[in-house]
Amino acid sequence: MSFRRVEEAPDNVTALVRVDFNAPMQDGKITDDTRLRAALPTIEALQAKHCKIALLAHFDRPKGKRVAEMSLKPIAEPLSRLLGSPVAFADDCVGEVVKAGIDALAAKGVMLLENTRFHAGEEKNDAELAKQMAALGQIYVNDAFSAAHRAHASTEGVAHLLPAYAGKQMERELDALDSALGNPKRPVLGVIGGAKVSTKLDLLKNLIAKLDKLAIGGGMANTFLFAQGVEIGASLAEKDMADTARQIMDAAKGKCELLLPLDVVVAKDVKPHAEARMCGLDEIQGDEKILDVGERTIQRLRDAMKHSHTLIWNGPLGVFETPPFDQGTVIAAQDAAALAKSGKLIAVAGGGDTVAALNHAGVAGDLTFVSTAGGAFLEWMEGKPLPGVEALKR
Ligand code: ADP
Ligand code: MG
Repeated sequence: MSFRRVEEAPDNVTALVRVDFNAPMQDGKITDDTRLRAALPTIEALQAKHCKIALLAHFDRPKGKRVAEMSLKPIAEPLSRLLGSPVAFADDCVGEVVKAGIDALAAKGVMLLENTRFHAGEEKNDAELAKQMAALGQIYVNDAFSAAHRAHASTEGVAHLLPAYAGKQMERELDALDSALGNPKRPVLGVIGGAKVSTKLDLLKNLIAKLDKLAIGGGMANTFLFAQGVEIGASLAEKDMADTARQIMDAAKGKCELLLPLDVVVAKDVKPHAEARMCGLDEIQGDEKILDVGERTIQRLRDAMKHSHTLIWNGPLGVFETPPFDQGTVIAAQDAAALAKSGKLIAVAGGGDTVAALNHAGVAGDLTFVSTAGGAFLEWMEGKPLPGVEALKR
């Protein structure tokens, strides 16, 4: 993928940098600074170039109005502590006063601008708002991959009005995604889980066209099993999606080998440490629910990982929040991590619950790349162009 990287940015300019500071907040204090820390490499790279830095970000969903609890102001101090230098705050993200403040910064100075979504034009990608943003800087840097699936003024509109660069975090994310699906080392294995087929239909269709093998687990596998005539008892399934599941299986034929569960873990209730048993697909009782994949299924998945060069994973294989139904996900995650650590597998994963599951398995840090971008990651897996990324392309 061809985009300008932050190293190529000129020295001594004012950089308008779109970041993701949508951090969890409680009583006016952020409770997790992961997203702040993620922005540091880009800020520091621009400081090394003696740039002035104005940070654009959204917070929550104020819907075009000023909402006091959704101010970005509480972010300035923790950011300043992490950076080890002062971070000024402007109570708007456009306008003459803000511009004067940015101009008055010393070289390497940083100013955080107020929530872009306080302006109704942000989510409408209003041309006038984008123009006012562009007036604040000489170059634009986008470091917020997680917001790149939205064509907003601060993520897309402004990128066309100034020389645009990918920030370090954006660059890392795009490189990782490219190595997993864009230009992967084959064979490529996909693992898709999660609750429903309906939320991941576009994703499944895109993946069967690009992968060598695709393992399906989680609740969505139940729908595929049902479509094949398996008695799935009281399992979660979308029976009205059976035709769709059959179409996907047909489309995959000869292109992508689908790995559906060979055996399962079932229980009558989804309760911690509920009485559970492992069984074959023809042994599921009417009152039982499939809550995890079985041992043979996991073993086959581990073999598939061993014989692949690249793994792309979204969605837990079972109800991982409720042990013992976390076992399939945990074992597969630990295996992927071990292979990635030894350099045998490029392992890329993402998705809200997937990140939680990898953390639960204690291996999130050991995969090649774990995307915390949520919606943007899923849309990218669906093969959709992301407006914020498209706007950075040369
Ligand atoms: P992500 O957020 O990573 O994209 P999803 O939201 O699609 O993942 O799916 C995660 C959810 O799927 C989890 O809450 C998990 O409990 C649920 N799930 C996985 N397997 C099953 C199953 N067999 N039955 C019901 N729910 C399941
Ligand atoms: Mg989810």
